[in-house]
Amino acid sequence: MRTPVLCVAAASLFVIGCQPRSSVGTSELQAEVAQLKADKAKLELKNTLLSRDLGKRDRIIHRFTCISNLRILDSAKEQWGMATGQPLGAQPSASDLSGYIQGGFYSLSCPEGGAYSLGPFGQLPRCNVPGHEL
Ligand SMILES: [Zn+2]
Repeated sequence: MRTPVLCVAAASLFVIGCQPRSSVGTSELQAEVAQLKADKAKLELKNTLLSRDLGKRDRIIHRFTCISNLRILDSAKEQWGMATGQPLGAQPSASDLSGYIQGGFYSLSCPEGGAYSLGPFGQLPRCNVPGHEL
């Protein structure tokens, strides 16, 4: 006679467990769905803003890294011109400057894929990415 008692108890639990969902009204469910949609929209907005901040931060870091590279190139160009007695306007090559740059000329690269132009002795080197300049 124990089995029927357990069945009744299990059936009661099942019914009790199911009752809250079946007793929730349509308007309450609609309100819950609306709240979930609002929460989702807030999270999406936060993610968008966070992505923009990270992108902006990365661009700033890239610009400063590139400007640092341009300073190294400018310094190497000055050292090359002075050491080899070049007149103003002389055009150095990458290999001319490699001896004056730790790791060589090709160790420097713009983090945003820009191209460096050394320019003549007496003028500043440049990167072709806007905002990357000395
Ligand atoms: Zn650059």
